[in-house]
Amino acid sequence: MTVEIVCAGCGADTMVKREPVYDGFKRIGERFVCVSCGHVYASEESVPFKKKREMAVFSDADKSPQPRIFKSDDLQKNCRHCEHYVVNPFTQRCGLHGRVVEATDICGQFEAKDKPEVGS
Ligand SMILES: [Zn+2]
Repeated sequence: MTVEIVCAGCGADTMVKREPVYDGFKRIGERFVCVSCGHVYASEESVPFKKKREMAVFSDADKSPQPRIFKSDDLQKNCRHCEHYVVNPFTQRCGLHGRVVEATDICGQFEAKDKPEVGS
């Protein structure tokens, strides 16, 4: 795994490698090594991470909009969203039942239109 840093050893805008440190076969910690110059940071605290940028990324992720899909199936089951819904200048009719309907009527034979309305 590599993480972006600005190296304190070589000054490069580069990456740091996380390496496990072993005492014999026992893992005793981690050290961080600059991939450009090999500068070793003994602890995570001493690594000059490009933190600002990482934090910006994280905050952007936090701000990502919540899914806008509300489980409003019942609301969607009214005639205006039904494929049988027929609108003309004078009336709104249900093509299936051949009767006048209101856009907000809820129908047992509701069938969703192929293309759901977006943004309205
Ligand atoms: Zn370096």
